[in-house]
Amino acid sequence: MVRKFFVGGNWKMNGTKKEIDEIVAFLKAGPLDPNVEVVVGVPSIYLTYAKSILPSTIHVSAQNSYKVPKGAFTGEISPAMLLDNGIPYVILGHSERRNVFGENDELIAEKVAHALEAGLKVIACIGEKLEEREAGNTEAVVFRQTKAIADKIKSWDNVVLAYEPVWAIGTGKTATPQQAQEVHDKLRAWFSANVSPAVAESLQIIYGGSVTAGNAKELAKEKDIDGFLVGGASLKPDFVQIVNAKQ
Ligand code: PEP
Repeated sequence: MVRKFFVGGNWKMNGTKKEIDEIVAFLKAGPLDPNVEVVVGVPSIYLTYAKSILPSTIHVSAQNSYKVPKGAFTGEISPAMLLDNGIPYVILGHSERRNVFGENDELIAEKVAHALEAGLKVIACIGEKLEEREAGNTEAVVFRQTKAIADKIKSWDNVVLAYEPVWAIGTGKTATPQQAQEVHDKLRAWFSANVSPAVAESLQIIYGGSVTAGNAKELAKEKDIDGFLVGGASLKPDFVQIVNAKQ
């Protein structure tokens, strides 16, 4: 089966209306490979603004959502609210949510399950820290993070799994294509054994961690890398070249 190439831009807590206008301008100028699914992860206060000026072929994603539809949860937004505003995607489990805001596997899995039940598509992030890799625990960590989600969801149809080694995020230290491919391959084997061979075959597993216009083409050649989640470079015109890495 051919998995569609997927490139997400995670703007994190960056952007003003003026800067968003500039990003939208280079995205519109492209040209972007029409065979690639392109999604931008926008700070919540700018979601509807970005959506209103982006071409309809580029989807907008939130960077977080809570695990219930509404209630006394000051500062949170729910999947129902995102859908009410025409936002189809959410990024959940990003390493900054895990490591800066203390979100654990259980909470992330609950958020993923609720977002899917509500009707959102989810970019679910996993990845090991440097000390975990150095201790030889990469597989154990990413399998544990993935299992927590698998235990709570009924279907992987609307999930894109982002493998983002924490040591490569925002550090300029990219995993080599071989390092990334090795983990993606092991994840696919885990899905085959623990979920189903069909999900292992169809699930888009994307790589994130200091992807640039300079390294995207080599990473995109690996057979189990189905796209990217891009932080810093998604704010720059280089993002167009990353989207087009398969060309
Ligand atoms: C990210 O935020 O998911 C990310 C991978 O960031 P960067 O590309 O800046 O490493």
